[in-house]
Amino acid sequence: MMLSLPDQMQLDQFLAQVRHLAGLELGYPVAFDLDFSALTPFLTVSLNNAGDPFEPMTYQLNSHEFEREVVSFFAELARAPEDQWWGYVTNGSTEGNLYGLYLARELFPDGMVYFSQDSHYSVSKNLHFLNMRHIMIRSQDSGEIDYDDLRETLRIRRDVPPIIFANVGTTMKEARDDVGRIQSILDDMAIENRYIHVDAALCGGYAAYLEPRPSWDFEDGADSIAISGHKFFASPIPCGVVLARRSHVERIGHSVAYIGSMDTTISGSRNGLTPLVLWYAIRALGHEGMKRRIEHALDTAAYTEEQLNKAGIKAWRNPNALTVIFPQPPRAVCEKWQLATANGNSHIICMPHITREKIDEVLNDILASGAEAS
Ligand SMILES: *Cc1c(COP(=O)(O)O)cnc(C)c1O
Repeated sequence: MMLSLPDQMQLDQFLAQVRHLAGLELGYPVAFDLDFSALTPFLTVSLNNAGDPFEPMTYQLNSHEFEREVVSFFAELARAPEDQWWGYVTNGSTEGNLYGLYLARELFPDGMVYFSQDSHYSVSKNLHFLNMRHIMIRSQDSGEIDYDDLRETLRIRRDVPPIIFANVGTTMKEARDDVGRIQSILDDMAIENRYIHVDAALCGGYAAYLEPRPSWDFEDGADSIAISGHKFFASPIPCGVVLARRSHVERIGHSVAYIGSMDTTISGSRNGLTPLVLWYAIRALGHEGMKRRIEHALDTAAYTEEQLNKAGIKAWRNPNALTVIFPQPPRAVCEKWQLATANGNSHIICMPHITREKIDEVLNDILASGAEAS
């Protein structure tokens, strides 16, 4: 395949542009520190992971073998009950969250979904797709769910099975709802029919490495968990992992003759490349490498919070969070550094590729722009 000269130039310019922009990206939870170019030969084959990664499939150009290793790695991180879990590589956490809510709805068709104000914007859309009843719960200032509001709201509807959509790392403030605490609220009320889905899009990549370990996983009470692969795991292609207790999945899967497999996933054709990407990151870095990345990122986050405060900018972050929140700087700064902003606050997310030098640069820009020292 050959391109005309102008087309080749367009492509080359685009590459230069995105490389430049990647150096100025501080506001979204995406990591750029891993290089997956060793996988480029796989662009010459049409991998397709349709069907259940744990079942044989008629179409043999799939990477199910790698996909199983990837989901097993995440199952271990999330302390899934041995041989009692199932999972697959998704297109991202929006799909993982849709999947978790779908399992919950099949289990409790009359259930009521509870989620906090600080939940990701995709949650309302997913609830709309699934036509599930829902109630929004207040958040604390930190972004964590307000447990008192949750308890009171549950108390009024004890006859309706609750489906709790917990955030482990909210989008704006990286607040973590405490899954164990939610579990004990439900225990106290003797509510047996219940489901907890955990949206761990960003933090699921490193929650297991934090000290103290956040309460977020299967042992803490989760029924299903969604994690993104393009966030902490630095996949250059959006992807994710969803994990669930096996008994929930067994209710929905049915055999499809055409693919010779079980139809347990949301998409039909599925990406065969992203399981290779995640597998490569996991095998090349291992737990030790991942721990080093999160330690470096936490160090940068502490530095960012400290430097902003030293400069008179009121910055803060949740415990052990990579996200530093501060009053919105002038628009030119937000645009240049791609800083997400909501309700007058902006944030920098100190992903592993971000260095202290970058933080110094953005701070200089904020100061030079004459931002009010508040
Ligand atoms: C990023 C994010 C999502 C959506 O994940 P995608 O992988 O982009 O679909 C959902 N919830 C939270 C908390 C997120 O940070």
